[in-house]
Amino acid sequence: MNFELSEDIQSLKEGIRDFIDHEVEPYAMEIEEMNEIPERIMEKTKQMGLFALSVPEEYGGLGLSMVGKCAILEEIGRTHNGYTTVIGGHTGIGGVGIVELGTEEQKSKYLPGMASGERIGAFALTEPSAGSHASNLKTTAIKKGDKYILNGSKHYITNAPIADIFTVMAVTDPERGARGITSFIVEKDTPGLVIGKIEQKMGLHGSHSSEVFFEGCEVPVDNVLGMEGEGYINALKILANGRAGMAARNLGSADKLLEMSIDYAHNRIQFGKPIMEQQIIQHYLAEMAVEVEALRSMVYRVATMVDQNKKVIKEAAMVKLLGSETYNRVADKAVQIHGGIGYISEYPIERFYRDARITRIYEGTSEIQKNIIASQIQKEYKKGGVSVGL
Ligand SMILES: Cc1cc2nc3c(=O)[nH]c(=O)nc-3n(C[C@H](O)[C@H](O)[C@H](O)COP(=O)(O)OP(=O)(O)OC[C@H]3O[C@@H](n4cnc5c(N)ncnc54)[C@H](O)[C@@H]3O)c2cc1C
Repeated sequence: MNFELSEDIQSLKEGIRDFIDHEVEPYAMEIEEMNEIPERIMEKTKQMGLFALSVPEEYGGLGLSMVGKCAILEEIGRTHNGYTTVIGGHTGIGGVGIVELGTEEQKSKYLPGMASGERIGAFALTEPSAGSHASNLKTTAIKKGDKYILNGSKHYITNAPIADIFTVMAVTDPERGARGITSFIVEKDTPGLVIGKIEQKMGLHGSHSSEVFFEGCEVPVDNVLGMEGEGYINALKILANGRAGMAARNLGSADKLLEMSIDYAHNRIQFGKPIMEQQIIQHYLAEMAVEVEALRSMVYRVATMVDQNKKVIKEAAMVKLLGSETYNRVADKAVQIHGGIGYISEYPIERFYRDARITRIYEGTSEIQKNIIASQIQKEYKKGGVSVGL
């Protein structure tokens, strides 16, 4: 498989690298301490088109292929992960549903505002009873005339406090289990949609996740996303679509940590010479470099498969798993190479280490990715052979 980026994507990627290095990264500590993305950075991010990654050109977006999108998300992953998550939550799970499943009317109504970043997207699946068991939803949507009345609660919803447009999964037919769930587009000003407590988190400062309550929230039938009863399947598709993108962000973070570690190892003198001259440090760096390159290959391989409309249920779970586990292992070694500085909040390594942790949990835990991979392998075996080739 050829992973060469086109000239257009390469030049866009370089422009984003420059933007991230000069306009975002210098303010990473401000984002961390204020627990907010400053408005001036949000505005510049909109101008750079970073909210438009998934949206087709006819609706004002960049219309990027998955390979193109991953190339940009890799760059964004190199800076503060709270900032990265605001963009990822919008262009990934928060927006992909409307792009992939929306009617022409829904796309024309919502996508231009989402592409410009004037309207932020969020994805509301998880509930107290429905985490990994995501079909165990209690939020109901009862049809009354030309409306559905939503009642229930969601939690941990990324971007909810700043979101304008929510993709919401709710039960329309409790008798049908996972096939009785429908997805809806819900606008933030809809009466009965209430934003609850904003969670205090270990990391991802500047990205806010909160409860979302639906209290007799009336949603027009025109806002059903996809077919009634297919909401759970839609949610799985949206999550699968987002997995290569999430891994690309993790790749960017791991790559940045490797770069910082190489630099530090060359400059930190102990016992009269750079710690880079110690074989154990060289081996740590070698292991990190191998992991980063392996992840890079898999991200672009899976992204290419998505662009070729291939079925990627297993591969999407694999790249999500590899991305988050690689990022965590690389972050751990980066702390070790940096010694005490790696543990001190004044320096960025400690922040990356904390921010890496969530990647093994959200958008499906590592354990759930393994379950998906194993069940796909079993299905392939029963059909007559496990596919592991390119
Ligand atoms: C910061 C943050 C942002 C988030 N953003 C969003 C969002 O935007 N939208 C959204 O809908 N959700 C969001 N989530 C929710 C997130 O996707 C869930 O937290 C995650 O899927 C795990 O669910 P849970 O927390 O209920 O854990 P649980 O499902 O209770 O899992 C607890 C542990 O048990 C393991 N486990 C559970 N079932 C199995 C099994 N069958 N086999 C093996 N192990 C199992 C899990 O892997 C985990 O280790 C977010 C969460 C956080 C923390």
